[in-house]
Amino acid sequence: MMQLVCASANPDKVVEIQQLLAGVVELLPRPAGVPDVVEDADSLVGNARLKAAALCAATGLPAVADDTGLEVDALGGAPGIHAARYAGDGSSYADNRRKLLSELAGVDDRRAAFKTVAIVVWPDGSELHVEGVCPGVITTVERGAVGFGYDSVFQPDEGGGATFAEMDAAAKHAISHRGRAFRALLSELERR
Ligand code: IMP
Repeated sequence: MMQLVCASANPDKVVEIQQLLAGVVELLPRPAGVPDVVEDADSLVGNARLKAAALCAATGLPAVADDTGLEVDALGGAPGIHAARYAGDGSSYADNRRKLLSELAGVDDRRAAFKTVAIVVWPDGSELHVEGVCPGVITTVERGAVGFGYDSVFQPDEGGGATFAEMDAAAKHAISHRGRAFRALLSELERR
């Protein structure tokens, strides 16, 4: 089985990546002691590449990373690539959700999309990256108890009216940005 070092340090994302790659890729844990990667690129692919390249350099093994953004139409694409720190440096998931709902208070157009870039970087410097998109709307109140991040305020178009936080993992993966990105990544990897 192909081995890839997981470059993500976010435990919620690592769980999902493990589920999405299970049975095809052996996901090696990010070694303790590798410093946090400063994600200062201006695009999802740029930040995903920074993470994967850093773990590839630290381990000498191919590394996989994802970077996810949430683009809200009425906010001109914000929070975009800054979704993790939308409410400021050190903000929690709950802080970010609160800020998003307050920015959209009274706004009718609630269209939004999650976008994930998944990337593999190899020690010879070559790479493969793909994108997965999930369109939907931002709810007016939080709904649901599972998931993480913006899951309780994002209602995907194909989810039968549920938010991601009202779905089990399999239902989320079937239509989510990350599910789509990692399925595309696997099919590209199989073609190499
Ligand atoms: P990252 O930069 O890829 O780590 O993701 C940025 C932020 O987007 C995270 O801190 C989460 O708040 C949010 N996020 C990423 N993926 C998801 C998801 O699948 N559901 C809800 N929020 C997510």
